[in-house]
Amino acid sequence: MLRTETSKLLYHDYAARMPVIDYHCHLSPKEMAEDSHFINLTQAWLYGDHYKWRAMRANGVDEKYITGNATDWEKFEQWSVTVPYTLRNPLYHWTHLELQRYFNIPAILNEHSARTIYDECNALLDTKEFSPRYLLQKMNVQVVCTTDDPVDDLRFHKKISDDDFSIKVLPTFRPDKAMNVSDANAFNNYINKLETVADIEINDFKAYIDALKKRHDHFGTMGCKVSDHGLEKIYADDFTMMEIKSIFLEIRTGKQLSVEDQRKFQSAMLLIFAEWDCEKGWIQQFHLGALRNNNTRLLNQFGADAGCDSIGDFSQAVTLSKFLNRLDEKNNLAKTIIYNLNPADNEVIATMTGNFNDGSFGGKIQWGSAWWFLDQKDGMTHQINALSNMGLLSRFVGMLTDSRSFLSYPRHEYFRRILCGIFGEEIENGELPDDISWTGKIIQDICYNNAKTYFDF
Ligand SMILES: [Zn+2]
Repeated sequence: MLRTETSKLLYHDYAARMPVIDYHCHLSPKEMAEDSHFINLTQAWLYGDHYKWRAMRANGVDEKYITGNATDWEKFEQWSVTVPYTLRNPLYHWTHLELQRYFNIPAILNEHSARTIYDECNALLDTKEFSPRYLLQKMNVQVVCTTDDPVDDLRFHKKISDDDFSIKVLPTFRPDKAMNVSDANAFNNYINKLETVADIEINDFKAYIDALKKRHDHFGTMGCKVSDHGLEKIYADDFTMMEIKSIFLEIRTGKQLSVEDQRKFQSAMLLIFAEWDCEKGWIQQFHLGALRNNNTRLLNQFGADAGCDSIGDFSQAVTLSKFLNRLDEKNNLAKTIIYNLNPADNEVIATMTGNFNDGSFGGKIQWGSAWWFLDQKDGMTHQINALSNMGLLSRFVGMLTDSRSFLSYPRHEYFRRILCGIFGEEIENGELPDDISWTGKIIQDICYNNAKTYFDF
């Protein structure tokens, strides 16, 4: 990826040395709090990694060896058979970068090398330098933001912060379940949990909002500065508070809501959460465009995040515009990061973010890094190019892992190499001036400094 001398110089002298601020991921706070060792590479690498599961299924591997009851070694063996077939998929690069950067193993993983690599990695995982906390320190991580539900009691975050761990591990307020009213039963069960954790009896909409606000405040006291929403699209229907109150009472009786009422409720909740975020000076994130749980067989067998989600084709622009504008008009628009899953929405989001900057902060409204299915060379290059063409790449807060695995941090290196590849080539072909110190500064800003000032953790 560093095809020119200038790219190499920019990467090695500027990008590589910058620490990592991982402002969005799905690491387990419990695993960081307990800091216990991984039993083996399968548990550290394959448990919970639906990217790998999809590749194994695509390669014809039986579910028994993916999420089923095969032994950990058998699962690893099937993964090692699959890896050579992932050529040109980012998994191929990630897998070998991870073997090199964490375990210092330069070998190619395949069925012949599998046993040696498995044993070598397991022996290392058994040492204290390979606990979750050490793995983060090894990758020069400064901040980790996990993804947490409002009903989470955050006791693991408390434990980590009480331990004076050198890396900040902060919660993120992600209230997807608090606004998902598509299933009355699931929503009411969720409210039961909220009643307990917030210690508020919830008989009407006001009590519901009071309870959620109490959790928002509590997250704030635990160092949370970021919210996140995973949505097909932004909902921005018109509604009155009278309507929302009666919709809430209706669903509390266990009755299924009409789609129209669901949309009104979600639209109201999004605005309320956004106002709280603005009040507290938090950053709000929106992950838009996934079509989830497409395969009922896998969903029933395993639950959500089984690796049967894909890119949806929801219409994004109109409601996103209406939502951001509603907030901007009332001076309630927090710093915002918008991530699209459908690459067809790249330019839509790149241009939409430019509508709502207000001079209060450079790069206030961000187009988030290429995400999930787009988190690869082609997807990142497209995002970087569209952002350069339609906005200010120089103000970009850059990469995040969005991963469930402690071994995913080389993805930052992957991103940095792509970024330096692009700048280096354009300097060498004369499109950009041969000003290494300014370009190096911009690269360091994108890799680290912008996120540091933007989030101010
Ligand atoms: Zn995520």
